[in-house]
Amino acid sequence: MKYLANPTETKAVLDYFGFDTKKKFGQNFLIDENIVRKIVAGAGVMKDDGVLEIGPGIGTMTQILCESARSVTAVEIDKTLMPVLETTLSAFDNVHVINDDILKCNIKELSEEFNSGEPFKVVANLPYYITTPIIMGLLEGPAGEGLVDSITVMIQKEVADRINAKPATKDYGALTLAVEYYSRIVKVADVSAHCFMPRPNVDSTVIKLELYKDKAVKVKDEKFLFKLIKAAFAQRRKTMVNSVSAVTDISKDDIRKALTEIGKDENVRGETLSLEEFAKLSDIFSLRTVL
Ligand code: SAM
Repeated sequence: MKYLANPTETKAVLDYFGFDTKKKFGQNFLIDENIVRKIVAGAGVMKDDGVLEIGPGIGTMTQILCESARSVTAVEIDKTLMPVLETTLSAFDNVHVINDDILKCNIKELSEEFNSGEPFKVVANLPYYITTPIIMGLLEGPAGEGLVDSITVMIQKEVADRINAKPATKDYGALTLAVEYYSRIVKVADVSAHCFMPRPNVDSTVIKLELYKDKAVKVKDEKFLFKLIKAAFAQRRKTMVNSVSAVTDISKDDIRKALTEIGKDENVRGETLSLEEFAKLSDIFSLRTVL
């Protein structure tokens, strides 16, 4: 079989179908077979796995996923790619291509229909314009319902840096803490812009999120924890006392007391607090107040 993950084959397929890549769908196709194999290996895809691929494009990574997994469910928003995928994936009987927007898909139904209700391994070269909504949508929804057991994705290096950031750095923020709450983060590879057609303006990184069965920290009120985190980073130069009192009924005095209770200075800024510290504060406040 001819693999598509090289410039010659990709160009041949695009020319044959008269297909022009669409910027609005973030279409940057992979043209480096080593990278594709690295992503699939990094995802730990095994013969008995059901994979959910987001945005198969012309089927470049799908081919290798089909060879490696039991089945592949591939969700692609672009209707004009359907005839392309029918051709490029014709050698495989373990692939289901769905023409839909991943943000509107019911993953439970996909799992029941195509993966015997088992959790998917999600693998994707994500469209950059919706990286964060896709990752957060999976973590807050299907992952929590046991429908996803890992998420291996190529994303902009800059977003990967934000996900991987340490407290008190400029990249550290609500996204870092949200991803950390749900998963263990493993960096798989950095990928140069040369590995795509057309070439994007940014470099990319592949990360794997291994979902925890329980969350990284245990809190009494998960919604409250995230309200606190959001408040802390809404204006990151503000002290915790000012950020939290601006969006809750908690008095400045109570906030100061809670900070002292967790061993922090009363002028501390949220951007320096770890997930564990946010969790401790969240529990102290949830006991004392109603938001
Ligand atoms: N997997 C292919 C590859 O690696 O060559 C294509 C990756 S390309 C970066 C992103 C793909 O996601 C495109 O095929 C694009 O049409 C598709 N896409 C964009 N938005 C989508 C959405 N909301 N739901 C499903 N697919 C989407």
